[in-house]
Amino acid sequence: MTTSTSPQRLLQETFGFPAFRPGQAEAITHLLAGHDTLVVMPTGSGKSLIYQLAALLLPGVTLVISPLVALMKDQVDAMARRHLPATFINSSLTAAEQSRRLRALASPLRPSPKVGEGMGVRIVLVAPERLRSRAFREALSRVPLSLLVVDEAHCLSQWGHDFRPDYLHIADARAEFKPSVTLAMTATATPRVQDDIVTMLGIPQAERIITGFNRPNLTFEVLAAPDERAKLALTQAFLKQAEGAGIIYAGTRRDTEEIAAFAQETMGLRARYYHGALDAATRTEAQDAFMSGDVPLVVATNAFGMGIDRPDVRFVLHYAMPGSLEAYYQEAGRAGRDGLPARAVLLYSPKDSALHEFFIENDSPDASELRTVHNFLKRTAAPGDGPDLGVSPDAIEQATGIGKTKVRVALELLEAAKALRRMPSEAFGQMPVEVLPLPETTLQAISKQVAQRREHKRALLDIMITYAETDACRRRTILQYFGDHSPADAPICCDNCLAREETAEAGDPLSVTGSALTPARPAQSQSERAALIVLDTVARLEWEIGKGTLANLLKGSHAKKMQPYTGEHNFAKFAALPTREIESLVEQLLMAGYLKQTGGGRPTLRLSPRGEAALKARAAITVDLRVVQPAAAQRSKAKQQAGGTVALTGQMLARGLTPEQIAAERALTVYTIYSHLAQLIADQQVELDAVVPRDTQEQIRAAIEKAGSAAYLSPIKALLPEEISYEVIRCVVEAWKREQGAAA
Ligand code: ADP
Ligand code: MG
Repeated sequence: MTTSTSPQRLLQETFGFPAFRPGQAEAITHLLAGHDTLVVMPTGSGKSLIYQLAALLLPGVTLVISPLVALMKDQVDAMARRHLPATFINSSLTAAEQSRRLRALASPLRPSPKVGEGMGVRIVLVAPERLRSRAFREALSRVPLSLLVVDEAHCLSQWGHDFRPDYLHIADARAEFKPSVTLAMTATATPRVQDDIVTMLGIPQAERIITGFNRPNLTFEVLAAPDERAKLALTQAFLKQAEGAGIIYAGTRRDTEEIAAFAQETMGLRARYYHGALDAATRTEAQDAFMSGDVPLVVATNAFGMGIDRPDVRFVLHYAMPGSLEAYYQEAGRAGRDGLPARAVLLYSPKDSALHEFFIENDSPDASELRTVHNFLKRTAAPGDGPDLGVSPDAIEQATGIGKTKVRVALELLEAAKALRRMPSEAFGQMPVEVLPLPETTLQAISKQVAQRREHKRALLDIMITYAETDACRRRTILQYFGDHSPADAPICCDNCLAREETAEAGDPLSVTGSALTPARPAQSQSERAALIVLDTVARLEWEIGKGTLANLLKGSHAKKMQPYTGEHNFAKFAALPTREIESLVEQLLMAGYLKQTGGGRPTLRLSPRGEAALKARAAITVDLRVVQPAAAQRSKAKQQAGGTVALTGQMLARGLTPEQIAAERALTVYTIYSHLAQLIADQQVELDAVVPRDTQEQIRAAIEKAGSAAYLSPIKALLPEEISYEVIRCVVEAWKREQGAAA
């Protein structure tokens, strides 16, 4: 590398970009001047270019620590296309290939007049656990380390949304290898997390470059979903009018499969699902299909997306609410990287927050659980076994009765407290471990830490809920949270701002309408007036009310618990309507954004800004009193359309294909096929014997009897061997229910 090469020239010649993006040049200048730097820039803003370009101008090696093992190959390939001398070393490589790369790394660097050949390896990507490998440390000690890059640096902080204990080793490595300069990068770090990162890395004097979090081309929306059915209906309605490519983030693996099948079968959309339990080849295939534009829709868990840089994603729909606003903004931010208008939509059901609260409890082991795990390992690792003993979290769960998630957390904590040492291992789930003493004081310290973490996670969740429930500008809520105080300008800001604009335009109240598409006029029809009465009732109430109680109030129920409401202005106003229709009306108003639900386990209703505006203007709200259950109605329509597909499964079964073969043939999941079969069994179109072997049937029937009810599958599943899936259980349950019905 000749010293005359300037960053600007390299940018054009090697990267082919005309100009730096905000923050890039500044960060590179700091690094070249030998100043440690923290870069907080949004996803897609071009953080990688900072270290890639600096690496070419620095004399030694650049070591990049990243948790994203699955993306390393792609990142290195991308660099290779630009002739950057980069490599990665991780567990996806054979041992022989790993040693070959280590030798290449340790061989001397040659200065070269031209980027590309002959420079030796200059950029090395590894996961943090690699820092524990002796062979790697040895190779690294033989080369001058110019730049240490910590990507996804928020993983260092317990206050971030993705704390990874392995990141704690980076500080030691930094002390050992003494890079000339250190760069920490992340897309999401609150001021508190930023402080934590520089402290944990030992670079308190680091320069900080924090560029705008505002993404003016994104529009933020939250849709109230009273329950799971409503979510599906809202998703369908959304997909019907959405344009372009999109990502749907769901909370569970099963949901990803179901929603993808739903989009594919009933809406004719080409969709893929993606989650952590798929094998690597299937994941890569799904990702490639989406990245190449072959497939416009991916339904995924949060395992999908880090590093996804398809520029033309037009929407990110969250089917389930993430546990923190950082996580939400990072995922939603995958929309609109090309700068064109894109939508970030959150389906919000208060149940989601209740579920997160459950998770938070579930991954917080207490002192006695920590002791139990430690004792178990101590007993298992008899002296002489040495550090080669393999124990899996599953085995620990089985022996101690402590849930697997908690076990995982406990192991991490014990290791961080040096009561345990784990060796990096190739075999997934297997964990060679060395057990060290766990003094009572250490145990107390860990427990305190667990309690703090739990509180912190609750606080993160509260902020996420605030975002979902706020009447204020959602963009401002996000930016304020990240400590970005620049103006929150955007052409189309968020649903709340839009509702306010609608009201503001209404010097004349008639321009407030139920839908932006319908012309303004005052409420006239019976159903329109009914909608206003519901809103009026909520507005008048001095205390909070839930959905069911509100319906009972309007119905005029004289149940005992309704006593306090009998004096209400609108009590028994809808005495003539069936309660289910009243409930349906309330749900429609929720889903259309006139009402909102707040609070976790027992949610209560409030008027949204849009509801207040409509009430004030006595505006027409388009609801349909005759539709008893909008969600159910849409579902049955979907089911009708899907009738063909269920029938086809039945025909293929009759032709002698197994469910697995049918799934393969039709490119559907086995789960979907079994759900068809369950339906066919319920409708008496298929015999249970044709689907589930006799002995398995018997096992499941015994479990149903023991569980005492077939209303929920999980207690039944818990009584059965692991390999009997929910899908198979469902088939037997359907047959069982039918038999019960016949007997009764
Ligand atoms: P981040 O890591 O911040 O999420 P990346 O480093 O993956 O973002 O960069 C996102 C995209 O922006 C990449 O496709 C990259 O090539 C592109 N990019 C980076 N810097 C520039 C630049 N100065 N001009 C144009 N495109 C750039
Ligand atoms: Mg990146």
